[in-house]
Amino acid sequence: MTDQITAAFYRGDKTFEVMQIAPEAPAAGEVQIEVAYCGICGTDLHAYLGHMDQRIGFSRILGHEMSGRIAALGDGVDGWAIGDRVVVRPLDPGEDNPAIQRGHSHISHNLKFLGLDSQGAMQQLWNVPAFTLHRVPENVSLRDAALIEPLAVACHDVRLSGLKPGEDVLVIGGGPIGMLVAMVAKAAGGKVTISEINENRLALASKLGFDTMNPTKTDPVAEIMQKTGDKGADVIFEVSGVQPAVDLMTEVGATRARIVMVAIHAQKPQIDLFRFFWRELQLIGARVYEPEDYEKAIASIAAGEIDADAMITDIRPLAEINEAFDELGRNPTAMKSLLKISEQAL
Ligand SMILES: [Zn+2]
Repeated sequence: MTDQITAAFYRGDKTFEVMQIAPEAPAAGEVQIEVAYCGICGTDLHAYLGHMDQRIGFSRILGHEMSGRIAALGDGVDGWAIGDRVVVRPLDPGEDNPAIQRGHSHISHNLKFLGLDSQGAMQQLWNVPAFTLHRVPENVSLRDAALIEPLAVACHDVRLSGLKPGEDVLVIGGGPIGMLVAMVAKAAGGKVTISEINENRLALASKLGFDTMNPTKTDPVAEIMQKTGDKGADVIFEVSGVQPAVDLMTEVGATRARIVMVAIHAQKPQIDLFRFFWRELQLIGARVYEPEDYEKAIASIAAGEIDADAMITDIRPLAEINEAFDELGRNPTAMKSLLKISEQAL
């Protein structure tokens, strides 16, 4: 085994320390992955900004949107071989509880999120439980494979929405997750409009072939009603986390529209419950993903349904992690930034 590897530790105050450390061998039931690429998630950005210090502490290695190759196998691991190209579904359900018993281990009450509650992928060798692995097909590059985790979020959201071909879809919020939700919804046959206030993101959304609107510049309700022949949107994804979006989602919903709550609302928003009653709207919570969403995400990338080149706007070596986070926080044209973790990454 390599004697020293590079790892980036979050130290608080918008700072990572990039260090050489001695790697640990994988424990029983674990595999060791040589990480190729790791994307920076919105959650990682929150952590960097100091919003999660209590949860993650000051010696945390972040990172869960990764791709890599298996470098070593712990005892008792079957079905995997050294060199296999993989991504990790970064959820450890932990001890038994009612959510697991009912088949919802992805939102287990004791869920441990790898890369937040334990060390993550912003290091060259990462040990993870073998049950978290998914195989990456040969025709998907390890660079593009770093998008599988956020894409699996989008696949979960669209699956839970029950979207049917031909339905009118509104995605509120055109950041990385919103854009991926829009791509998955379009591939599923939805007629997608993206609502977003950042003009750079609107320009990208139009370039990708989506209808767009800026709710600060037009009357978004009138626009959706006009587009849908006064019916309203059949499926609405709330991906922005702000009060005006919560107002919009109830105002533009068609009769029995499904509203999928993807965003994390830190504050309790005001919700027009009368509209839920009046139009028989349905609200669906959607958090992370299940194994089938990962498989769907992998198949969508392999089938070329997702424009990875449009999504990946920056790639830097792990040594430049501080610059990468700083830039991502400030650059309004950024979508997804990747860190190249291993020099020999393909
Ligand atoms: Zn993520």
